[in-house]
Amino acid sequence: MKRIDAHLHVAADTPESLALMERYDLKYMNICVAQDAHGAWREQADTYAPISKSQPNRFAWCTTFDLPRFDDPKYVEKAIQGLERDFADGAVACKIWKNLGMEVRHPNGDHVLPNDPLIQPIIEYVASQNKTLLMHIAEPLECWLPLKEGSPHSGYYSQYPEWHMYGRTDMPSHHDLMAARDAVVAQHPALRVIGAHLGSLEYDVDEVAKRLDQYPNFAVDTSARLTDLALQDTEKARRFCIKYQERILWGTDLVAGAVSKMTFERQTRYLNYAEETYREYTEFFESDGDVKVGRHTVRGLGLPDSVLEKIYRTNAERWYPGL
Ligand SMILES: [Zn+2]
Repeated sequence: MKRIDAHLHVAADTPESLALMERYDLKYMNICVAQDAHGAWREQADTYAPISKSQPNRFAWCTTFDLPRFDDPKYVEKAIQGLERDFADGAVACKIWKNLGMEVRHPNGDHVLPNDPLIQPIIEYVASQNKTLLMHIAEPLECWLPLKEGSPHSGYYSQYPEWHMYGRTDMPSHHDLMAARDAVVAQHPALRVIGAHLGSLEYDVDEVAKRLDQYPNFAVDTSARLTDLALQDTEKARRFCIKYQERILWGTDLVAGAVSKMTFERQTRYLNYAEETYREYTEFFESDGDVKVGRHTVRGLGLPDSVLEKIYRTNAERWYPGL
């Protein structure tokens, strides 16, 4: 079955990484992430755009734009010009990352939330070009809770304590950020919005369902949230996937950049990790027996082929036209 991994960061440019794609019959949508204000993310675009052009059956890409620069009165204009170039260069979508809401501040110290008026003209431009907005806003709910050993994301917050928001009264809450994201979805009904990582509502599919019911222009991807899904009640998760079979896009969030630029040792590590990731996702969605997801043994969803085909492929094609 042909599958589109609709959220990852991997230029599979070695024979081994391409062979893995062929084994699972994969197409990749590579996503640029603006981690700083100075356009260093352009390197990602320069990695992902050319392979999307030369191998359009295997690769597509999603661009982004620089973070706000308050000392540059032409910031918005330049961001839109960048998008114009990238869409002409084949980008099928634009991504906003969690630093909007959790890191970037106005000169007066207020956080720049995703529904900040400053970036609305940029979002309107994405909509006007019939492109899709991928929003990774906030973090798993766990980010705002005390660290709990063994929970799906505790490893990440032990490793990156700067992103752990528990007790941080100076930071927006998970609820504030979800409200700001939902406001963008509501304010731009003609814009297709994908909520990355189960829309940061990974702790309960009912919370995702509420937004899908409320906003017909909203869908979610599964990237990096397999364990969260797998640890929910299997029947409930299965019902969710069947009821919202048009609104869930499959993605893994594998990160490697250009594989050929890694050392041999890192390439091997990446390939093993990718292989294990694809095994986990496909077994969980496809098998109705016991499957291993991380350290957990859970029951697979055993989704019917007609639903798998949508989650694996046709939803990505519909929600990201041109992919
Ligand atoms: Zn990602």
